[in-house]
Amino acid sequence: MPIRRLPPLLVNQIAAGEVIERPASVVKELVENAIDAGATRIDVAIEQGGRELIRISDNGCGIAIEELPLAIAPHATSKIAVAEDLDAIATMGFRGEALASIASVSRLSILSRTAQQSGGGLIEVEGDTAQPLRPAAGPVGTTVTVRNLFFNTPARRKFLKTEQTEAMRVDDTLEAIALAHPAIAFTMRVDDRIRLELPPQQSPRERVLAVLGQSIESELLEVRGDDHGVLIWGMAGKPAIARGTSKHQRLYLNGRAINDRSINHAIKEAYRGLIDPTRSPTIVLFLTVAPGQVDVNVHPAKAEVRFRNQAQVHGAVLSAVRRTLREADLIPHLQLGEQPLQSWSTALRSGEPTAPSQSPEFSSGLASPASPTDPARAFVDYFRRLDPVQRGFVYSEVKQALAAETPEALREEIATTQSHPSPAEPESLPMVRQVADVLQVHSSYIVTQDAHGLVIIDQHALHERVMFEKLKARLHSDGQPLESQRLLMPVVVNVERSHLATLDELKPLLRRLGVDAEAISPTAIAVHAFTSLLFERGVDPVEFMHELLDRAANRGISTSEEAALHEVLDMMACKAAVKAGDRLQPEELAELLRYRETIERASNCPHGRPTSLRLTLKELEKQFGRT
Ligand code: ADP
Ligand code: MG
Repeated sequence: MPIRRLPPLLVNQIAAGEVIERPASVVKELVENAIDAGATRIDVAIEQGGRELIRISDNGCGIAIEELPLAIAPHATSKIAVAEDLDAIATMGFRGEALASIASVSRLSILSRTAQQSGGGLIEVEGDTAQPLRPAAGPVGTTVTVRNLFFNTPARRKFLKTEQTEAMRVDDTLEAIALAHPAIAFTMRVDDRIRLELPPQQSPRERVLAVLGQSIESELLEVRGDDHGVLIWGMAGKPAIARGTSKHQRLYLNGRAINDRSINHAIKEAYRGLIDPTRSPTIVLFLTVAPGQVDVNVHPAKAEVRFRNQAQVHGAVLSAVRRTLREADLIPHLQLGEQPLQSWSTALRSGEPTAPSQSPEFSSGLASPASPTDPARAFVDYFRRLDPVQRGFVYSEVKQALAAETPEALREEIATTQSHPSPAEPESLPMVRQVADVLQVHSSYIVTQDAHGLVIIDQHALHERVMFEKLKARLHSDGQPLESQRLLMPVVVNVERSHLATLDELKPLLRRLGVDAEAISPTAIAVHAFTSLLFERGVDPVEFMHELLDRAANRGISTSEEAALHEVLDMMACKAAVKAGDRLQPEELAELLRYRETIERASNCPHGRPTSLRLTLKELEKQFGRT
């Protein structure tokens, strides 16, 4: 084929392929232009997910009527003039290709007026044909309308997702920009319905709350840092509001939304042990570094950046977020609505079962054999109604434990309790065990107090954290393997053939953890020594090895040594910890509470679930009408 110059339309369409992927990318470019134009108010409207219409209106400086044709020409920009400008870019865009690209794949019109001109102008383009420029009336500012996106590039149009999905992405894009520009008012309409409305002149804090939701204010912690030339401000969510997607994790560098794997890693690391590794925290972080320290133009659309000193930025984020979480009180506070408590007290009085719970997992099948006036029962009923975010319990575990307590078993238990009556245990409270100012409820929860109010602890979750910290401390204090107990007779574990390879891989790790196991046949391994701490806690080596090998074979254990160690320690801690349903002796309760005071991150178990919930005195006063 002969070499030819590509026609301009095709050149622009190819350029569009780089930056204009979907309606949300159009919105991003146009809103950034409005910001560059000094707008204090930006209105976004889309129809049918942005396929049919995208309209952005701003009250910025406007485009002089005679410059309108230039605005849509490729490589035309008002933002840089000489090469030196490239090193000190203060605007969001400067490539001068957004309008040209969008025009090449849609029907575009720009209506604009500057403050100096008495009338505005309108330009309409479709593909590579522009209608003659026309005078048009309008306020100072610019309205860009994009219709029928990708009408002339059907392959791209087919690639779009459903209306709802595209609208959600637009929403997401606009939120991301709005967070970084709290002084600018934004609205967004989807098919004529207001979806987002943000007032002007907000402080950064007010803007974050307006976007994330005022209702979670008490769940957000302010992050501040100033390390090695990296200035950090932001809001970090407590573990209780971590989410299944990373959508609520937003990063900004010098006012621009970015994506950075290393910073994401630092955040994950800071939350390690506080939230389940499969979840992401709700967090908004604004980083400021000297412009010379970073190259922002690695990719125009992907918002990737290259730091001159990646490690310093990583360290600064890790320490700022970690410090914030460490200093915070991470025990979730219970906030009772009017409803739950009323029906709780009604239930107590009348002995009626309370209304079915919202939580399907908990709505039926919960044996509640205690007498209706049993406060323990009332607690459980009350927990049922709590918002799932606030409660954070593993109800299935408790449910199992409770289901095991059949009425027969319970009657037996009451009988034994009664045959050894203790002054601390009134007969009417068969399931509540009182030890000084500590109660064990349903053999699963510990109820106690602290300076702020009533504290309810999930005994398994807390003990798991205690065990985890104990194991970790022993491991790290001298670098030696964990103390190990040699077994008089090796324990034989029957395994699948494929497990032997897994065992080989895990061997060095297991040795560090005080487990000595080796293959004795293609389908059996022998455990010669077992971690002392697990041994003392009565963990069965056979069960442990089975679970470990199964897990490693199915899900794979992390390839990073540190993460793998963490995972196996986690498993050990879980196995060694007391379970829901275990009756604890007074000394055991006291010891557990003592540990709670001394270990780090006692607020959450190693999987990130909370170990404790607090009902503050203030909330109690409110609920009892004392204020
Ligand atoms: P860039 O933003 O990279 O300069 P664009 O193609 O996005 O390139 O815009 C081209 C030019 O059009 C801008 O440099 C600016 O002068 C002008 N412009 C675009 N949008 C607006 C707007 N909303 N208000 C004022 N001027 C605008
Ligand atoms: Mg631009």
